[in-house]
Amino acid sequence: SNLKPEPIVDCIRRVLSLTESEALARGHNIVLETPLSDSLLLMDRDKIVQVLLNLIRNAFEAMEAPGEVSIRTILADKDILIEIEDTGCGIAEEVLSKIFDPFYTTKESGTGLGLSICQKIIQDHGGSLHVRSIVNCGTVFSIRLPVCEQEP
Ligand code: ADP
Ligand code: MG
Repeated sequence: SNLKPEPIVDCIRRVLSLTESEALARGHNIVLETPLSDSLLLMDRDKIVQVLLNLIRNAFEAMEAPGEVSIRTILADKDILIEIEDTGCGIAEEVLSKIFDPFYTTKESGTGLGLSICQKIIQDHGGSLHVRSIVNCGTVFSIRLPVCEQEP
């Protein structure tokens, strides 16, 4: 595989450059809450970028009016959490249990594949993907990945 120790901030910078123009076009504000940590994760960078892109696109699509997407990194013992929070429509309780199912979508032209692919990629990295949400308030997707101890 393509697993290499990479600083998580590099990944986030890359995703920001890929989403900047869409955020601008939709009037959304992206807020970074990443203590500029040099924490390394053993990752296939393109795959992790794909996960973050999917989560940010979902966040954009959940906000009809201009809103805010926060990207946060939290060091938690031997894990790092990467959280993507939006101020969008939220997810109803009865929908929450299905969003990771392949082909489950509530969108007219959605594929329903994004989150199931995200979950698979994160699991392949030895991590987990969680969600918490409040209807009409917003949603937080939280990626938990093991920090890499070795030097690059
Ligand atoms: P798609 O985006 O093609 O619908 P996903 O697998 O990415 O497929 O998402 C599945 C469903 O989960 C979406 O249709 C939507 O109902 C819900 N969802 C995902 N992310 C969010 C979010 N940030 N806010 C509200 N609902 C979301
Ligand atoms: Mg999607």
